[in-house]
Amino acid sequence: MSDIEFRGVTKTYPDGTTAVTRLDLRIESGSFTVFVGPSGCGKTTSMRMINRMIAPTSGTITVAGEDISAADPVRLRLGMGYVIQSGGLLPHRTVLDNVATVPILRGKSRRAARADALEVLDRVGLDRALARRYPAQLSGGQQQRVGVARALAADPPILLMDEPFSAVDPVVREELQAEMRRLQSELRKTIVFVTHDIDEAIRLGDRIAVFAPGGVLQQYDAPQTVLAQPATDFVAGFAGRDRGYRGLSFRAANGVVPHELRTATAEQVRELRLEPGEWVLVVDAAGHPLGWVDVTGVEGVRAGHALADCMAAGGSLFTPGGDLRQALDAAISSPSGIGVAVDDSGAAIGGLLATEVIEQLARQRADEDAERNRHFFDHEGG
Ligand code: ADP
Repeated sequence: MSDIEFRGVTKTYPDGTTAVTRLDLRIESGSFTVFVGPSGCGKTTSMRMINRMIAPTSGTITVAGEDISAADPVRLRLGMGYVIQSGGLLPHRTVLDNVATVPILRGKSRRAARADALEVLDRVGLDRALARRYPAQLSGGQQQRVGVARALAADPPILLMDEPFSAVDPVVREELQAEMRRLQSELRKTIVFVTHDIDEAIRLGDRIAVFAPGGVLQQYDAPQTVLAQPATDFVAGFAGRDRGYRGLSFRAANGVVPHELRTATAEQVRELRLEPGEWVLVVDAAGHPLGWVDVTGVEGVRAGHALADCMAAGGSLFTPGGDLRQALDAAISSPSGIGVAVDDSGAAIGGLLATEVIEQLARQRADEDAERNRHFFDHEGG
């Protein structure tokens, strides 16, 4: 067990800045907790108090039930992987030696540590061919993966991550986030992750702790709860005006049943008879969507224009195993107003209107209300 608990923790810096105010927080062993909030709200200070890089002014922090102020700081840190924004890699050491550093410090032989390091590189999705390079010879995303590998190398129960993905571009960042979720589902570490990005927080966290200026904890809940029931005006404002829309990503789309869709292959388009306002999805031989045509598109093709010039872009797609945010986005971004559901092979299996997604949301909410009422009356009765 490696749960982490803050009890009444305050940190005031020597210049009088109160960075963290009476923080009470219990982080469950094996959970992924994200500290989120605008810059300067005490997130990093709170995290660094966990490995004693910073000492609290008052209050106590326990790890696995033990007060860390009594622990040896070096030993404490060896049990906690630490990943920072710049990667923190040693520039004059190879990737392999960077990853092997902590196991060697912990007394492993150089050979064994290097052999293990190769396996950790596999684990974080890095090609072993990169092992002999130096950090400067890697992309930003690869450096961050090495940073994660290094933190994991000694297999510590706790992983502290301070804005680790903030400096990489958005595409690589999403890859790293997905990789982190995948890793966590395998490793079940106790992870504390700092970010100022609410989207990153809701993507990664089992629970998120929202901090306000002065290091005042506002809410500590599952991401969907923070979005649906912000505890304070500060949280509502920070989570953003489109938090209702974001919240849809926590609702499964499998309740919506895509209805039949009118499709045509490129050869069939010329023969279509369409009314104004009617749309047909053009698909290839395997059923993969290519785009939409309406009556003007069909007339264009008949007049001899290339199909591609007469077709409207398809909008985004969704899979029934996905979430309502994807389903709604697919419908809204589609020129026909119909979101296209695809199977795992990418073939179109049906369509959905935005209104049907909203109806599904209403149904899910009604079910949840009924469930809550049932519990309430059960308690009343019992
Ligand atoms: P965050 O991680 O949320 O951006 P920090 O924990 O880094 O916030 O900082 C919280 C507050 O403490 C800020 O006002 C910051 O300026 C201040 N602060 C951080 N480190 C120091 C320090 N060493 N001395 C004085 N003030 C500091």
